[in-house]
Amino acid sequence: MSKIEQGFPRPKGDHTHVIVGDGITALAFLEAAQKRNFDQIIVVGKQAAELGRGAAYAKGEADTPWRFAYLLNSPADDIDPQFAKWLANRWDAISEQMQNRSPDWLGAAAPLVQNDDLYGVNAPREFYGDYMEEQARNLISAFDARGVGVTLMDDVATALNVAEDRVTITTQSGRELSAQSVDVAPGGPSTMRIKGDDGPFSTPSVFGFEARIAEHIKAGTEIFCIGGNAAMLDVLRLCQSLIPEEELKFVACAPDGEIPTPLVPRLPRKLTVPEFCSGHQTAETFLSEVRREIDKALAEGDEMREIRAGFRAHFLQNPLSGYLPDVEEARKVPGALRFWLRGGTRDTIQDMNRFVREGKARVVKGLVQEVRPLDRGAEVVVTDEGGNKQQIKTGFVVNCAGAGPGSRFDPLTEDMLAHGLLSRSHVGGGLQVGAGCRTSAPNIRYLSPAVSEIGDEVVAMPLYDAHMLRSYVARSL
Ligand SMILES: Cc1cc2nc3c(=O)[nH]c(=O)nc-3n(C[C@H](O)[C@H](O)[C@H](O)COP(=O)(O)OP(=O)(O)OC[C@H]3O[C@@H](n4cnc5c(N)ncnc54)[C@H](O)[C@@H]3O)c2cc1C
Repeated sequence: MSKIEQGFPRPKGDHTHVIVGDGITALAFLEAAQKRNFDQIIVVGKQAAELGRGAAYAKGEADTPWRFAYLLNSPADDIDPQFAKWLANRWDAISEQMQNRSPDWLGAAAPLVQNDDLYGVNAPREFYGDYMEEQARNLISAFDARGVGVTLMDDVATALNVAEDRVTITTQSGRELSAQSVDVAPGGPSTMRIKGDDGPFSTPSVFGFEARIAEHIKAGTEIFCIGGNAAMLDVLRLCQSLIPEEELKFVACAPDGEIPTPLVPRLPRKLTVPEFCSGHQTAETFLSEVRREIDKALAEGDEMREIRAGFRAHFLQNPLSGYLPDVEEARKVPGALRFWLRGGTRDTIQDMNRFVREGKARVVKGLVQEVRPLDRGAEVVVTDEGGNKQQIKTGFVVNCAGAGPGSRFDPLTEDMLAHGLLSRSHVGGGLQVGAGCRTSAPNIRYLSPAVSEIGDEVVAMPLYDAHMLRSYVARSL
């Protein structure tokens, strides 16, 4: 990026605004800042120089076989129609770049390409990061042209101190920045840890541990994933990038023993339009209507992509409180919606289902309690719904469990919770912010995928979704 200044910026104008974070939410806050009168903006991010990528859309390491292996979970135009257009405009260069890659991404995209539906592909996540980084550059130039300096500072904010109308931001490298207003976008909590997940034959995550896991994959070891969600699909892609399909030995262990439904795009694009009555007193009656609408859509032949995107669009326009005013009851809704509307990357889920049919992969139903190292490999202790234990011997275990009980937030969020700037819901542990994403200090706003309540609104569909996060920032002014 062109406008990077790593030094301490000198305060110049009356209003300094600080944005903490370097992902799409931080970038959305920068975009929204165009509507406010700031004299200078400082973005403090772990990798602020790559503003817009964050944890999910990071630049991969050159020359690793798994570079570009991780895909977006939805068709490109469900993430952002502008991104889909950007991708289609570069299709020749992208096809060139993705030639001869394993897994065969171009082969999986071929039916869509033949159908003139480039907007429907599951793009490599890195490409979305490229697009977002380009958006950040354009935005910074636009601020520059208006005389508003934007400083991208690679650093980590560790604490915020509020005194009257000023906020002091302390950083890991010992800086103290003074601002009149702050937007915080630090991303979601860590994956929950599972006893023994950091042993000689296990890793606590896939991200950042690829080189180590790759050694075991290449040695022909069975790979056992704790969890059946998007990170598990990334591990499958990691395997596919390293060995031929015939050598694959893969296990996913999920509490429901199921793999999410693939999100398959069709032309013309359709969104399911659900219809709900207002005035519900309990979550139970509202959820029975939700289930009815999902079943009706499925019976009419709608794809999960259409249902999920349709419900998302519906709840962005029609808050849950309009149907179910009791907050305590509304808090019971997102968990069920998350489960019923589960969906993921078309290419990988179709591969996974095929591997299960061919005996190269299997799905174990249960909850992993512990991983025990053996002389060569690991033993995974799994309990079923009835609490019965089984011990499964495997080769190498990767924790893909996602956030859960015992997950930790980043240090700044923990600090904000400790100082009462944020609070946590007693149902599910999501974060609560005020109207317009305001914290208890009116000049500090906060948004991350972990936020479950904004003002009086319980967010119906969880915010682990790029489009939702950007939508909520855009309306937070
Ligand atoms: C691996 C992965 C894949 C995903 N895939 C999809 C997908 O395909 N489609 C979709 O819609 N959603 C996806 N998501 C959900 C995703 O969370 C959102 O789409 C979105 O990326 C979240 O953006 P964010 O900016 O809120 O958080 P993040 O992307 O997590 O960015 C936050 C950034 O802020 C930095 N940071 C944190 N604390 C501080 C601090 N105190 N000081 C400075 N910097 C800090 C972090 O290092 C991080 O880089 C995925 C998430 C992950 C983790």
